[in-house]
Amino acid sequence: MRSLIEEIQAIVGSAGLITSPIEVVPYATDWRKRYLGKPAAVVRPASTAEVAGVVRACADSRTAIVPQGGNTGLCGAATPDASGTQIVLNLSRMNRIREVDARNNTMTAEAGCVLAKLQKAAEEAGRLFPLSLAAEGSCEIGGNLSTNAGGTAVLRYGNARELVLGLEVVLPSGEVWEGLRGLRKDNTGYDLKQLFIGAEGTLGVITAAVLKLFPLPKSRATAVVALRSPEKALALLERALEACGERLTGFELFSDFCLALVLKHFRDTAAPFPRRFPHYVLMELSDTQSGEGVRALVESMLEAALEEKNILDAAVAQSETQARAFWKLREFISEAQAHEGQNIKHDVSIPISSIADFISATDQDLTRAHAGVRMVTFGHLGDGNLHYNVSAPEGVAADVFVRNTPAINRIVHDNVARFGGSISAEHGLGQLKRDEIQRYKSPLELELMRKLKSALDPRGIMNPGKVL
Ligand code: FAD
Ligand code: ZN
Repeated sequence: MRSLIEEIQAIVGSAGLITSPIEVVPYATDWRKRYLGKPAAVVRPASTAEVAGVVRACADSRTAIVPQGGNTGLCGAATPDASGTQIVLNLSRMNRIREVDARNNTMTAEAGCVLAKLQKAAEEAGRLFPLSLAAEGSCEIGGNLSTNAGGTAVLRYGNARELVLGLEVVLPSGEVWEGLRGLRKDNTGYDLKQLFIGAEGTLGVITAAVLKLFPLPKSRATAVVALRSPEKALALLERALEACGERLTGFELFSDFCLALVLKHFRDTAAPFPRRFPHYVLMELSDTQSGEGVRALVESMLEAALEEKNILDAAVAQSETQARAFWKLREFISEAQAHEGQNIKHDVSIPISSIADFISATDQDLTRAHAGVRMVTFGHLGDGNLHYNVSAPEGVAADVFVRNTPAINRIVHDNVARFGGSISAEHGLGQLKRDEIQRYKSPLELELMRKLKSALDPRGIMNPGKVL
C-alpha cells in the first residue's frame, strides 16, 4: 500500500492526496452518517489524465476505488468500507466548465462541477439546465449522473439520464473513453454512455459530460394547493397536464405531517394557509413567454377545481419571494426529518395510476403491524416517485424504533412490488439496498447486470460492495 500511495502522490501531487486520519473523516462517511468507512487515502485528481493515472495504478495493484462527488448520496454508495484498503477518488477538483455552446444547446462540464454552478452558467448564457434538487448547492454533476438523479423537474425534462448527450469516462483499466459528443442523433450501435449513468461508480469514473440545455423560462407561476387525499392530488395532476401541457414543470405532494416538521425545524417558514389540511401539492408552471400568462392559466384552473370541490384551498405566489417560500416547504422536508431523528426511508416509484391505492394500502398494513407509526409521505407525484418515510410513534425513541427497519421495509417493498413499482426511484442502491434488490429483481436481470460488470471491470476494483 505504501508504494501505491507514493505512486499516486507522484501523479496528483500533495494537493491531491489526503492520508491524515482526521482529514479523511468527511470523505469517509455519508450525508446521513449511517456508514463510516476507513479509506487508505482520499485522492483528489485535478484532470482526466490524473484520474487515468490513479485508476491505472489501482488496477495494477488490484486496489478498490470508491468514486465520490459532493457526497450527498443517500444510500452509502460513495462511502468506502472499513478495511483501510480502499481509495476514495474524489472528483471535486475537476470543476471546470469546458464549453457552453448556446446555439447547440449544450454545455460540457467536468464531473466535479457543483450542480448549482452549472445552472447558473446556463442561465448566464440565456439557457436552462433543468436538473434541480435540494442538494444542488453541494452535489456534483458526476454524482448526479452516476445516480441518475431525479429531483423536481423530471416531469417536464426527464431525469439526469435524459439530459446527457456525451460522456468522458476513465474505464477500470485506466483507459479513457472519449465519448464527449454533442449530438442529438447518433445511432451507431450501443448507447455506451447510458451504461455509466446510474451505475453508482461501479463501471468506471465519469470525468466530463456534454449536457443538454433548454430555453430559459421567462415567466413562472407557483401555487400550493390543499387537498383531502393523494387520490384528489392525482385528479389535479390529470387536470393540470390537460390544461397546461409542457408548461407544468413541477408537481410535488406532501402531507400535513411533513409541513409540521418543516415549520417546527425551520423558523423562517410559514404555513401556506390560515388553517391546516391533510395534504398539499406544490405546483409550478413555467413558460418561455414573459408576462402573466402562466399565472392566469394556473389561477383559472385552480378556480375551476375549487368550484368542483376537488381541491380544498389554493394559494398562488404573488412574488418571486413568495414562490421561494412555497418551495422551501417542500425542499426542507428531508432536512427537517434529519433534525427530528432517524426514520425509516423509502424512495419508491409506482405507476402514477396506482399511487393513491399504494399509499392507502401501505398506511393500513403498517399501522396494523406497528401501531402509532407516523408516515412522512412526500415526493415527486408527477413522476410517480414517493419518499415514503416512516417515523416512530409519539413517545418512542427514534433510535429504538429504527430497529424495526427490516420488518417495515418488507411491508413497504412487498407492496411496491405488488403495485408494479421500484424500490429505488432516484437515490440508487449503494450499500443500503444491495441485499434488498436481490428479492425484487429477476435472477436473469441480476445475471445480466453481473455479466456487464465483469465485462467492464474484470478485476472488480470499481466501487465493490455497492449495487451488486
Ligand atoms: P456522491 O454522493 O458523491 O456519489 C453518489 C454515487 O455516485 C456513488 O456511487 C459514487 O461512487 C458515484 N460517483 C460520484 N461521482 C462519480 C463520478 N465522477 N464517476 C463515477 N461515479 C461517481 N437525489 C435525487 O435524485 N433527487 C432528489 O430530489 C434528491 N434530493 C436530495 C436532497 C437532499 C437534502 C440530499 C442530501 C440528497 C438528495 N438527493 C436527491 C440525493 C443526492 O443528492 C443525489 O444522489 C446526487 O445526485 C448525488 O450527487 P453527489 O455528487 O453528492 O454524489
Ligand atoms: Zn426526491
